[in-house]
Amino acid sequence: MRRPWCLLIILSIGFVGHETRHILPEVPDVLHPPVPDILLGQDNETVVLDGMDPEVSPGLFQGDMAMTNEIYNYWRVGLKWEVFPDKLWKNGVVPYAISPLYDPTDHVTIYKAIRTLNFMTCVRFVPWNGKAKDYLLIWPIKYPKGCWSFVGKYGGTQIVSLQPPDDSGPNCLGTEGRAIHELMHALGVFHEQSRWDRDKFVKIHTDNIVPRYKSNFDKQSLENTTYSFEYDYNSIMHYGRYYFSKAKGKPTITSKMAGVKQLGQRKAMSKGDCLKLNDLYGCLDNPKLKKKYYNICNFLGV
Ligand SMILES: [Zn+2]
Repeated sequence: MRRPWCLLIILSIGFVGHETRHILPEVPDVLHPPVPDILLGQDNETVVLDGMDPEVSPGLFQGDMAMTNEIYNYWRVGLKWEVFPDKLWKNGVVPYAISPLYDPTDHVTIYKAIRTLNFMTCVRFVPWNGKAKDYLLIWPIKYPKGCWSFVGKYGGTQIVSLQPPDDSGPNCLGTEGRAIHELMHALGVFHEQSRWDRDKFVKIHTDNIVPRYKSNFDKQSLENTTYSFEYDYNSIMHYGRYYFSKAKGKPTITSKMAGVKQLGQRKAMSKGDCLKLNDLYGCLDNPKLKKKYYNICNFLGV
């Protein structure tokens, strides 16, 4: 049985304290945006398979992205603003609020992720002032459980789900990088291995993928996509070798390049992630800023 959103919110609001750092939203009757039903899996259970990264647990598009059909048809590694002007956070300003349900350690992890993005890019996450119509609400949503985000700005109160660790569920806050990964989706970035040209760089082992997750490994055609940077094996947005694997030791994605052993990571933005995000938000257009952010990405990107 699906739990009604309103019940979830009423239960949650009981924990709202006055000592929290940010202004919190009014209690909404309905969560916006809702996760479209067609994007959810057949069942509600949280599945954690061998070698699977926690972020892939919910039955959403490519594991952790809540998508609409509209976006699905026209996506690329970064959203194409000419096609989706409304998905862009105007001037790179992203108001956000963090749920008071997080304990202090988890709150700090989320806050560090935000601070890192603010430092390494010209995107500006700012505490929600209680008035801005569009903002991110970072909340440990119970259904669908897990770590997930919409891609780009959806409009209105937009959930980024980061589930704290518990006995059975995924831990979206084990590293600052997991929070950065979901926040990058919210800024409009897709998974690296979904690039149109990925078959030159990685091999997908379809037989090793749990059948119902095979579409998570789809890619996009060139006509809907453009790319400014090289394929990045080390991207924080790249799947790991065993994501959605049927069994231990059976990789679902491997490199075609000799010497590349590690695929993806969730520690920090790679140099490529950092540049990609800066490029997406026009931070590289001005020569002075371009120099600044190239330096930052090269020094701090992993
Ligand atoms: Zn993801």
